[in-house]
Amino acid sequence: MKDCLFCKIIRREIPAKIVDENESCLAFKDIDPKAPVHILIIPKEHLGSTLDFSDENISLLAEMGLMSNSISRELGLNAGGYRWVINTGKDGGQAVDHLHLHLLGGRKMTWPPG
Ligand code: AMP
Repeated sequence: MKDCLFCKIIRREIPAKIVDENESCLAFKDIDPKAPVHILIIPKEHLGSTLDFSDENISLLAEMGLMSNSISRELGLNAGGYRWVINTGKDGGQAVDHLHLHLLGGRKMTWPPG
């Protein structure tokens, strides 16, 4: 997608602190972190949100999860745990219209989320 912020990060048209990459996914540090570790994991294929999951592309969710697991192991988050967040749409608090998994860790999370 030409004007999508995260597609531009994938194409290296705007800078990001990339922490992992494979054929299907990219992970980079959130520009405005809400926890000591705050990484966004995105599919390289442009999906607007979870609403775009289909039988054909749902395997991307597994790919995102596996990349998150690799990163959380690498960063030593697994002992204490961490939180995954995916915001969908206006009421879900989604600001960037390219599906992304937030990996948040390094502090104790509160519940319920806002
Ligand atoms: P969401 O509200 O779920 O759509 O989350 C969007 C996230 O993208 C927010 O946590 C932002 O801080 C983050 N973000 C926005 N622009 C950038 C950027 N250029 N590089 C890294 N993270 C970004």
